[in-house]
Amino acid sequence: MGMPYLVLQGSVFTGVEFIEAGCVVVDQSTGSIVEVGRKGEVNEPKYSRVIDVHGSTILPGLMDAHIHFFGSKKYDMAEWVTTPETLVALRSVADARRLLRAGFTTVRDLGSKAGTYLRQAVEEGMFEGPRIVSAAKSLSQTGGDDDLTILPLDISERLSYSYYCDGPWECRKAVRKVVRDGGDLVKVYASGSMSQGTKVRRQFTLEELKAIVDEAHSVGLKVAAHAYGEEALTNSVKAGVDSIEHGIGLTPEIAKEMERKGVFYIPTLSAYLAMAPTRNEEHLRLVKRHLTEDMELAKQFHLKVVVGSDFVGCDTEPHGENYREIVNVAKYFGNKEALVAATSRAAECLGLEKSGWVKVGYDGDLVIARGNPMEDVENLSPNNILYVIRRGQLHAIND
Ligand SMILES: [Zn+2]
Repeated sequence: MGMPYLVLQGSVFTGVEFIEAGCVVVDQSTGSIVEVGRKGEVNEPKYSRVIDVHGSTILPGLMDAHIHFFGSKKYDMAEWVTTPETLVALRSVADARRLLRAGFTTVRDLGSKAGTYLRQAVEEGMFEGPRIVSAAKSLSQTGGDDDLTILPLDISERLSYSYYCDGPWECRKAVRKVVRDGGDLVKVYASGSMSQGTKVRRQFTLEELKAIVDEAHSVGLKVAAHAYGEEALTNSVKAGVDSIEHGIGLTPEIAKEMERKGVFYIPTLSAYLAMAPTRNEEHLRLVKRHLTEDMELAKQFHLKVVVGSDFVGCDTEPHGENYREIVNVAKYFGNKEALVAATSRAAECLGLEKSGWVKVGYDGDLVIARGNPMEDVENLSPNNILYVIRRGQLHAIND
C-alpha cells in the first residue's frame, strides 16, 4: 500500500481565483480533493507523497466539451464514415491516452461510433484516458449534414455515426436509441455544416427539435445542437437546447435569448482557424463573421462560452493538441475567461457537479503546468504539462 495522500505545493488556479503559494491535498484512495489553501495554512497529513511544483501552476483538469473520436487520418467525411470500426477503436485508444497526457481529464464526444465503448474501457482501467462524456451517435435528418449521399440510403445509415430520423416520433425514437446505447447526452444537427460544403439551411423543423429536447430532458439528458444560421439557431434556442455548438450567425435577438435561458455557447474557434483554406467565398465570409460579429455578440451578451475544439483526431486536428482552443478562446475573451471556459464552466455545461474546480470534496482531477497559464495560456501546451492527476492517480508526463 503506497502513500494514501498526494500533497501538491505550488501556485493554484482554483477555477476562478489564483493562490500564489498554495497547497492541494488529494486522497488517493477516494480520488477526491481534501485540502486546498495557502501553504502553511493547510493541514498536510502524515504518510503523504509530497510533490513540490514550485514555479508551476496546479489547475482543475482541462475539459474539451466538443470532440469526436473518429479515429480517422484525414479531415474528410467519407473517411470518417467508412473507416472500419476496429481501426476507429484502436486509434481512439491512442487518442484517449494523448488527451489525458495533454492535461484533459474530461472530454465530451459529440457523436462517434467509439465513444461509449471507449468510456467503458477507460472506466475499467484498460488504458489511460480522460473521463468521456459521450453522446453515442448523433441525430441527423435524412440527407442531412453527415449523410454520405453518394451511397444508397440504407448503407449510408448503417455506416454513419448519426441516427437518421424524420418527424417528431422518429426523432423521439432516435433519442431512445441513444439512451439504449448508453449516451450521456443527445447531439443534434439543427443545420448543415461546412464538412459538406457550405450549407447554412436549417435541418429538422422546430417541431422535430422540440420532440428531441422533450424526449431527452424527460430522461435527464442534455441536448447539444450543432447550429449555423439564424433559422437553426432560433429554432434550437426556442426548442430549449442546453448548448449551441459552433453557433455561426448570431443575431442580437438570438444572443439575448441565449443569455436569458443560460444556454452555453461553444464557438469551436479552432475548427475554423485550423481548416485548410480550400473553401469558397461563402465559407470565408461565414468564418470571418464568426470570428468578428459572433464573438462581439458573445461578449456583449455575456454568453457562457465553453472550450470545445471540435477536433476529430485527424492529422490537422490531432487529439492531444486541444489546448489550442483554450488559446483561441483567450484571444477573444482573455486568459482568465479561457481558463474558466476550460474548467469550471465546462463542468457546469457537462452537468458534472463535483468537477472543474480545485475545491474540497471535488474530484481529484488536476493538471500541473510549468509557469502561470493566467499570464500566458500557451503554458498549457503538452510539452509544458508536468503531471496529470485523474481520480487522484498521478500520471507523470514531463517531470
Ligand atoms: Zn463536431
